[in-house]
Amino acid sequence: MTDRDYLQTPLQYLKGVGPRRAADLQRVGLATIEDLLYRFPTRYEDRGGFQTISSLKPGVTASVVAEVIGAGVRPTRRPHFKIFEMLGRDDTGSLRAIWFNQPFLKDVFRPHQRVVLFGKLELTSHGLQMQNPQYEIVQADSAGDDADETSKADDEMLHTGRIVPVYEKTGQLTAKMQRILVHHALAQLPPQISDPLPDDVRRRQQLVDRRTAIHDTHFPPEGASIDALNGFRSPAQQRMIFEEFFLFQLGLVLRKRRAEADRKPRSIVITDAVRESARRVLPFKLTGDQKKVTAEIVGDMKRPAPMNRLLQGDVGSGKTIVALMAALVAMENGFQVAFMAPTEILAEQHYINIRRLLETSRFRIALLTGATAAKKRRELQAELSGGSIHLVVGTHALVEGAVGFRELGLVIIDEQHRFGVLQRASLRSKGQHPDVLVMTATPIPRTLALTTYGDLDVSIMREMPPGRHAIRTTARPESRREEIYEFIRTQIDAGRQAYVIYPLVEESEKVDLRAATEMADHLAHDIFPAYRVALLHGRMKQDAKDHVMQAFARGEYHLLVSTTVVEVGVDVANASVMLVEHAERFGLSQLHQLRGRVGRGAHQSFCVLLYQAPLPDQGRDRLKALTDTTDGFVIAERDLALRGPGDFFGTRQSGLPTLRVGDIVRDHQVMEAARREAGAALDDPAQHESLAAFVKESWAQRFGLVGVG
Ligand code: ADP
Ligand code: MG
Repeated sequence: MTDRDYLQTPLQYLKGVGPRRAADLQRVGLATIEDLLYRFPTRYEDRGGFQTISSLKPGVTASVVAEVIGAGVRPTRRPHFKIFEMLGRDDTGSLRAIWFNQPFLKDVFRPHQRVVLFGKLELTSHGLQMQNPQYEIVQADSAGDDADETSKADDEMLHTGRIVPVYEKTGQLTAKMQRILVHHALAQLPPQISDPLPDDVRRRQQLVDRRTAIHDTHFPPEGASIDALNGFRSPAQQRMIFEEFFLFQLGLVLRKRRAEADRKPRSIVITDAVRESARRVLPFKLTGDQKKVTAEIVGDMKRPAPMNRLLQGDVGSGKTIVALMAALVAMENGFQVAFMAPTEILAEQHYINIRRLLETSRFRIALLTGATAAKKRRELQAELSGGSIHLVVGTHALVEGAVGFRELGLVIIDEQHRFGVLQRASLRSKGQHPDVLVMTATPIPRTLALTTYGDLDVSIMREMPPGRHAIRTTARPESRREEIYEFIRTQIDAGRQAYVIYPLVEESEKVDLRAATEMADHLAHDIFPAYRVALLHGRMKQDAKDHVMQAFARGEYHLLVSTTVVEVGVDVANASVMLVEHAERFGLSQLHQLRGRVGRGAHQSFCVLLYQAPLPDQGRDRLKALTDTTDGFVIAERDLALRGPGDFFGTRQSGLPTLRVGDIVRDHQVMEAARREAGAALDDPAQHESLAAFVKESWAQRFGLVGVG
């Protein structure tokens, strides 16, 4: 049997796993020996260094080896409460251990057995005692089908007397059981196993071989540093992390190279007529960054391979006009353009905006969303496939099967992270290798950009259009609410408008909704009776939402109480106050997005973060990051460091890879090394074929992402 065959062996053939346990394991995604071996410890405990019983002191945690003198269940007065008690001794003294409600232990401990106990000591009326210690019988025992948690293959200690791997419990699989199964699996691992890492990469990066790495990650050798292990810095772990990132980067690099080999149906040229058309449309002078980025985009569009570019620019940095410049270039070259936004309100706003800017041009534009009536939709679809509509703005309704184009040449996606990778791919597939421009206002830290969007080129705009005042941000405890209301009154009296935002946490959506609704009532009747107050939340019908938002934008309301549905892109230049309730419940990037709803006009704007005191230290740091800076990139880095990549993007839909051992933030340097090595390895003709084949086979399944094949 080759090592690959061995690793692919279904777990039911592993010693200690019967059909029932195999089914349990399958349910939690563990089908093969490889699955089991690649489910790594999340931390390690040092249970080594035996002590003699006479040297034990109350309050310390220790390991001892003892001989069992006696053991049994001791009833208590409480009916369903049983104590199992064991008495053990060594040459220096004796020790009692007790466990609560584990009567099965009577089948585990027998007199004269040698056992290892690991636990915390306490002084009781019976003398020194360990309560619920970890235990292990130091004795060979043959494991049958569906081994219980004490059977083992040999004399090696797994649970005590060493640095012990700790696994997260999943389904029926306890940490202890995984330790035993991994031990069985490692015992049968062939002496030589193949390595997906090329030798020269391994040498250059000074990585241990795969077999050693797998073994030592689970069962660290004697003398290993517990701190290195818990920091995922041991040589074995570093090698496994590198392997994971290397495979992931191979896939991304291949995907990018494949895309670069694609050819657009015809080339895009920039003539004087195109330049003139752009000049006519521009309502203002572009900022330096807007010019730079527009040049990057147009440069891509002129190339024979399709553009695949991510435009990052903080809220208000002026991405829309850049996108419109790209759209003009495509349309002047006879291509159609699809512009997708995450919400109907946003799509509509873009539509109104773009229609106004293109008023004097010969291009026809249309809006297509979920709210478009069936008849109108059919007309639009006919015009799109006939080619008489040049630019369509819409929501994910654009992705639907019935929507087709005559010659789609440019796809623009606003607020990227709201869309899954699949939606991006499916809109792209409506053209023949169209250019793709994705825009996001969530500044993505470099580490994440390399991973999630590793196959995109990135443009960044940090400069703001002229005439903006920096938003003043303050964090205040709830006790200062009155003062803040007073401040809002002065702003409204000066002609401004204000937002009051409520968090909406999924699990308690109803409660929060009620809180927002009650708050709107309270503000309208008790606090601001002289002003007009509107309410906006996600449960409202689309028409109703649009209606409220548009009325607010026209200045018909002074105050808009809302859940986070206003988070993305809505532009009300006259709004100057953003009050966020329960600011401690929001992510930093989300707060930054919310703050970006104000400061879009000529007036000085304010953001007040109201929190429930007392705040834990971390909460204080978080809010301080916002009051300290308005630079979205700085905030994004802080957010990522504080929350980790999973929460940063919120959902798995975001296209983040499912990693088994690496951590994008903690191990970002390894990721960068892996990226360089993956590129170099694929440049080597001797290795290219086998690496590409390997990736094609395992990549998508392993990382839970869209395939590269
Ligand atoms: P975002 O990057 O958040 O999508 P927008 O494209 O909506 O930003 O632009 C924000 C506001 O700034 C809009 O009102 C837009 O008209 C204005 N704007 C953009 N670029 C400039 C510029 N170069 N000069 C003046 N105003 C600009
Ligand atoms: Mg925008």
